[in-house]
Amino acid sequence: MSKTILVLGGGWGGLTAAHTLRGILSSDYRIAVIEKRKSFIFYPSFIRAIIGEKTDLNYIESPLKKLLRKDIEIINEEVISINPETRTVHTNVQAIQCDFLIIAMGAELYPEIIPGFNEFCLNLYDTKGAFDIHQKLKSFTKGKIAFLITRTPFRCPPAPYEAALLTEWFMREKEVRQNVEISIYTPEKQPMPVAGQQTGEAFNQILKAHNINYYPEHSVMKIEGKKNKIVFANNAEANYDLLIGVPPHGAPKAIADSGLIDSTGYIPVHPQTMQIVDNVDELTTCYPGVFAIGDIAAIRLLNGTLLPKGGVFAEEQAHVVARNIVSQIKREKIAASFNGKGICYVDVGDGMAAEGSGDFYAYPAPHVSLEPPSKEGRKAKHEFERIFELWFSK
Ligand SMILES: Cc1cc2nc3c(=O)[nH]c(=O)nc-3n(C[C@H](O)[C@H](O)[C@H](O)COP(=O)(O)OP(=O)(O)OC[C@H]3O[C@@H](n4cnc5c(N)ncnc54)[C@H](O)[C@@H]3O)c2cc1C
Repeated sequence: MSKTILVLGGGWGGLTAAHTLRGILSSDYRIAVIEKRKSFIFYPSFIRAIIGEKTDLNYIESPLKKLLRKDIEIINEEVISINPETRTVHTNVQAIQCDFLIIAMGAELYPEIIPGFNEFCLNLYDTKGAFDIHQKLKSFTKGKIAFLITRTPFRCPPAPYEAALLTEWFMREKEVRQNVEISIYTPEKQPMPVAGQQTGEAFNQILKAHNINYYPEHSVMKIEGKKNKIVFANNAEANYDLLIGVPPHGAPKAIADSGLIDSTGYIPVHPQTMQIVDNVDELTTCYPGVFAIGDIAAIRLLNGTLLPKGGVFAEEQAHVVARNIVSQIKREKIAASFNGKGICYVDVGDGMAAEGSGDFYAYPAPHVSLEPPSKEGRKAKHEFERIFELWFSK
């Protein structure tokens, strides 16, 4: 009997889920992706765009129609609300009922929460912001560059640190580094708190070696752009000549309006199956056939932090959910399980990157290690990014 599988969100997780399902299920099964944008955005390219390595928009964004298999339906509409009990999705155009629902709507950016952000801070986390940052860095020859992490959690915890390190390299290449001060301000206690103290310390050493000032536990209250000043909750203030920031993140409005989030601000899910849970201690699932994957999902770890928001996790969770949906359809035993493991590469400039790998479900606390930066690490990062370049050039 034919079934409908709806994927909400055509980002990293949603597209992986749709492709995996389509690769297995026959055309009797309707697989549709509801996505409000016309293009898929590959966020890791922002980091390369700021130093001018990606000047072509085609390496950052790709039209969904070009990217997706022709036998996957794209519904270019905005999700307004979701009824998980009846598995009905209301968009700005229609209501659609389905047999399986994968919510992969990611995290939304809310820069307006910080007074002054929209007016005075360049947004590291959007395409226009990344290109604008490059234009500013090209002509920057002396003064203070501040990187501002506004709130946690945010996508890809190493990304703003990478951006600062690549900026440092860019200034050295321009031979103006001696005239430029680079600082990072963040509410975090250390870089990547989820990764533990040792990894944080290794990260601090990398920042020190590059002469980048680091100000942890600085939670921004407002940006007084006319005075080139950042004001923090701890009463500290900082001056800048160029301000680059990561805006606050949160669940898309449709998810919050549908009553699906908990105190984390995201959708609580079972750590292995990605089904939505109604009790995070007992891990009891509440809506059969409904899953949340990627940045929109909240998975509590044994050290009390949340699983970081990363594409590698969204991708693996998408595979797990797709395989389990197929198992359910075929009435087979459900076997796939997300294991909380992931790898990332932190670009530090000079053609080098540090490989970080983590087992976030390790007992009694996540186990994360950070290798020293190396040329091999950079090559591995390049290969990882190439997967998307190849995807984009299809
Ligand atoms: C600068 C930067 C560098 C990064 N580098 C890495 C890296 O090296 N490695 C890594 O693993 N991760 C990296 N990440 C993180 C990674 O990009 C995200 O974790 C990943 O994109 C999450 O996938 P997702 O599918 O959950 O969400 P997204 O990819 O954000 O997709 C969500 C989709 O849902 C859509 N949507 C939202 N609301 C609605 C609605 N109401 N109706 C319809 N559609 C909607 C959005 O338009 C979007 O297309 C990086 C992120 C940034 C910002």
